[in-house]
Amino acid sequence: MSLDIKDLSFRYSKRAPLVLDNVSFSLNKGEIGVVLGKNGSGKTTLFKNVLGLVKPTGGSISFDGKDLSKVSRRERAGYIAYVPQNVEFGALSVFDTVLMGRMPYFGLRSGKEDEEKTYSVLNEMGLTDLASRNVEELSGGERQKAAIARAFAQEPELMVFDEPTGNLDIANEQLILNEAKRIAGEKGIGILTSLHDLNQALAIGDRFFFLKNGKLLHSGGKDIISKELIKEVFDADVSIIDHEGKMIVVNC
Ligand code: ADP
Repeated sequence: MSLDIKDLSFRYSKRAPLVLDNVSFSLNKGEIGVVLGKNGSGKTTLFKNVLGLVKPTGGSISFDGKDLSKVSRRERAGYIAYVPQNVEFGALSVFDTVLMGRMPYFGLRSGKEDEEKTYSVLNEMGLTDLASRNVEELSGGERQKAAIARAFAQEPELMVFDEPTGNLDIANEQLILNEAKRIAGEKGIGILTSLHDLNQALAIGDRFFFLKNGKLLHSGGKDIISKELIKEVFDADVSIIDHEGKMIVVNC
């Protein structure tokens, strides 16, 4: 087991309502877990708890048996990478931005291996031509890719992505999802991500966590997904069809 969330509750302030209410689930190494739910259901708040950006009101989050509330921010950054929805960068080149992902591995100066890793990730991500550009001058989608590349270069044990495909065109969506799937499988990295597109979720997810009003209504493999579940979680009417053995969700 790698990530274990147990009875997690969270409120932003003393008198505010619970935004996460008794959430429990686990994610194994090498698995992609997709958190799904309407806007405001608590997905980002769940990620902030896992990242230690906020402190749980109740319950616990552990990683490989270690209670994350007892681990320093720096130590946590060594094994968990986070790509938030809107990434803010300093005025660095794309190369240096991705190289920063290697920081947990080097002290003050990067080594040859860090630079080689950076080149290889830039290449896999189709970012080589942008390597010397200032990251602040890129389009939203290109910046998003650079942020994801930085997380890939970090080779953490767990990656947390908040809507990673939000700014991307369809080709880049496929690139990111395929790379995420490949990296999870080959390197045994756990990935916890939100995705608003159910078909993207079905394409890459191993485990699905459905949140509604901060409660985990359902969790499990693909087999739990049905039009009734989607109606319950999203208040939306859909059909689920079979296309060459793949489940496809269509609006209707
Ligand atoms: P999602 O990522 O699923 O859209 P969020 O986790 O962002 O949901 O939000 C869950 C709930 O927490 C919402 O009701 C939102 O208004 C509230 N919330 C989010 N951030 C804050 C904050 N910084 N302070 C107070 N309430 C917040």
